Amino acid sequence: LQNLEKSYPTGGSQLPVFSGLDLTIPKGDFAAIMGPSGSGKSTLLNLLAGIDHPDRGEIRIGRARLDQMGEAARTRWRAHHLGIVFQFYNLLPMLTVAENVELPLLLKPLSSRMRRERVMMVLELVGLTSHARHRPSQLSGGQQQRTGIARAIVSDPELILCDEPTGDLDRKSADDILAMLRVLNAELGKTILMVTHDPVAAASARRTLHLDKGSFLEERRAA
Ligand code: ATP
Ligand code: MG
Repeated sequence: LQNLEKSYPTGGSQLPVFSGLDLTIPKGDFAAIMGPSGSGKSTLLNLLAGIDHPDRGEIRIGRARLDQMGEAARTRWRAHHLGIVFQFYNLLPMLTVAENVELPLLLKPLSSRMRRERVMMVLELVGLTSHARHRPSQLSGGQQQRTGIARAIVSDPELILCDEPTGDLDRKSADDILAMLRVLNAELGKTILMVTHDPVAAASARRTLHLDKGSFLEERRAA
């Protein structure tokens, strides 16, 4: 991000969230983003996901310039290059675990057999092979979030954005999810950006970025 500006209209005037934000996340990093409520964490993720658009400034992810794309191009880019893990899982209740995980692949030119193979591979990775035919309502919170992670990685994105991925889980399930994110980062080389309020979750990242009053303060840890 370079010189990023974003404000929201509030009853006639503009409320700036970012006025000249700079941030570089190296490929292969695992960064936690912390910060007080209202500091702009969700706004930042929405901008990176191309869901929201900046007023000014650059958003560069690999070779893509998100700030120069229209909405349709951003949606297409997101489907191909990004995995998103949500606090409340965002699974479709009428679909099975396997069908939920398959969703991002429906946009790709793959045969149904290739899609099924890919789905079973990521379900094995998150330890849910035996739950492939279950519905989300038949799963624990931790299992639902593992389904969310499987869906986020099924199309092999280079960047994974997580918005409070452990926010709705007990400690043990949260730790399982964090261990999984560390494997995705350390062994599969995925770049991960995770917004969290949980200091334990933040401690599993390689570094923590504290967002406050429109700028970042960085805290680095030995990898
Ligand atoms: P939290 O920890 O509570 O989730 P956050 O850091 O994610 O907070 P944001 O949701 O990014 O904060 O909000 C940043 C600021 O922008 C807040 O002041 C918020 O009121 C404002 N804001 C966010 N979205 C909108 C919107 N769609 N319209 C107007 N103002 C908005
Ligand atoms: Mg938020």
